[in-house]
Amino acid sequence: MEEWQKELSRRICSREELEAELELTGSEREWFLRGDADPAARLPFAVTRYYLSLLDDNPGHPLRSQVIPRIGEFHASPGESRDPLCEGMHSPLPRLVHRYEDRILFLAASSCALYCRHCFRRHFTGENDDSGALLEAAGKAAAYAGEHREVRELLISGGDPLMLPDNTLRKLLALFRAARPDIILRIGTRMPVVLPSRITEGLADLLGSFAPLYVISQFNHPLELTPAAARAAARLSNAGVVLLNQSVLLRGVNDSEETIRRLSADLLSARILPYYLFQGDLASGTSHLRAPMSKGISIMRSLRQRLSGLATPAYAVDLPGGGGKWLIPLEPPPERVDGFYRIRGPGGRIWLYPDEE
Ligand SMILES: *Cc1c(COP(=O)(O)O)cnc(C)c1O
Ligand code: SF4
Repeated sequence: MEEWQKELSRRICSREELEAELELTGSEREWFLRGDADPAARLPFAVTRYYLSLLDDNPGHPLRSQVIPRIGEFHASPGESRDPLCEGMHSPLPRLVHRYEDRILFLAASSCALYCRHCFRRHFTGENDDSGALLEAAGKAAAYAGEHREVRELLISGGDPLMLPDNTLRKLLALFRAARPDIILRIGTRMPVVLPSRITEGLADLLGSFAPLYVISQFNHPLELTPAAARAAARLSNAGVVLLNQSVLLRGVNDSEETIRRLSADLLSARILPYYLFQGDLASGTSHLRAPMSKGISIMRSLRQRLSGLATPAYAVDLPGGGGKWLIPLEPPPERVDGFYRIRGPGGRIWLYPDEE
């Protein structure tokens, strides 16, 4: 077993283990007690000891609500859904999503090192994937990429694809490379943030050998960019991997101009390009984590005046109801009517996003 796998096996998955490390609030404890009664209906709980070490007993610590569940998760608000991106509608094969003409998405793993409470892809089995079945699905998806020449990029996500051991990952990447030597590979992973020891020299070399390959991480707060995380990033960059970051705008975590500005500066220093800042998706039970769109718009308008182009992420939203990913206009911002933002989306059609201020 590699060091990161040992670390993973020591992660915290129960209330008892968690309470040995952290004093829980009433609302957090309630989630566990309620959860015990109905384990199937909720996003699983797990946190790495590394990530937990970044928190303290302060219930308002900015990293805390990303990983410690609260009872609010059981309150679905109007418009929220289990599949807010409607990915089910765009899936030509198991594990494959083809929603945008030139890009496909392959879901390579159904578990993560920890479960982000704001996650929009909430159908986890929490189990390790059977590598035979996974590679069979990957083989079919690779054949699909071979037949669909309009596809130029393959996104590999999940779950967290870096939960897979190196040799499974190598076989998977090789299948796609063999079918399409020209395809651009992108891996979406939170490992540099939540378990930086996963980014071994061996993994960096493996990923570097499949260039052009981009790794897209999800740093949401400057406190996540620890020396260990920065070393993980440097390892990947040095191996020839290009690093980008997608953040999610989260209430009480990073919903201030100052925090996003520091995050952007620190990312650039770590050779990670700020790519997207996402307005929260309408995933079931996440309303207490969503920052209102008015906040995102005001943060972005002031960033645009103060930051370099390199340091400024694009502010985007997945238009609720299946409209796809879309940039939120800033000058002028979308109209607010009757509790909704009216966003002119693809083809000029108007899409509604709740005005939750
Ligand atoms: C986000 C996403 C992509 C990639 O979109 P970019 O804007 O190119 O980053 C591709 N496919 C699906 C299904 C997605 O959700
Ligand atoms: S790492 Fe990504 S897929 Fe996994 S829980 Fe977090 S947001 Fe969801």
